[in-house]
Amino acid sequence: MYFRCPVCFYNQMPYPPEDYHICPCCGTEFGNDDVECGYDNLRINWIAAGAPWFYGDPPRNWNAWAQLADANFGVVKQGVAKANIMEIGYSPLHYSLA
Ligand SMILES: [Zn+2]
Repeated sequence: MYFRCPVCFYNQMPYPPEDYHICPCCGTEFGNDDVECGYDNLRINWIAAGAPWFYGDPPRNWNAWAQLADANFGVVKQGVAKANIMEIGYSPLHYSLA
């Protein structure tokens, strides 16, 4: 059974996001990092740092932006006429909850 990180949305966490487990993707230590800083802020900080993989080598074909896009984060829809075109990435000016 895998768990999903509430910060970066990595969905292959071997442990639940609690009890000082650390997300191998974003490095959030649950019960520590998320005490003073909410998930949203932790996520923004992680993205602002370039959304790096935290522990060891990332899984094959892992892509932070695709992971965020799957969770509807960091996806900018380009208007109704081009609704099927998405921009994947991070821009503070365009960041929004999709
Ligand atoms: Zn994470």
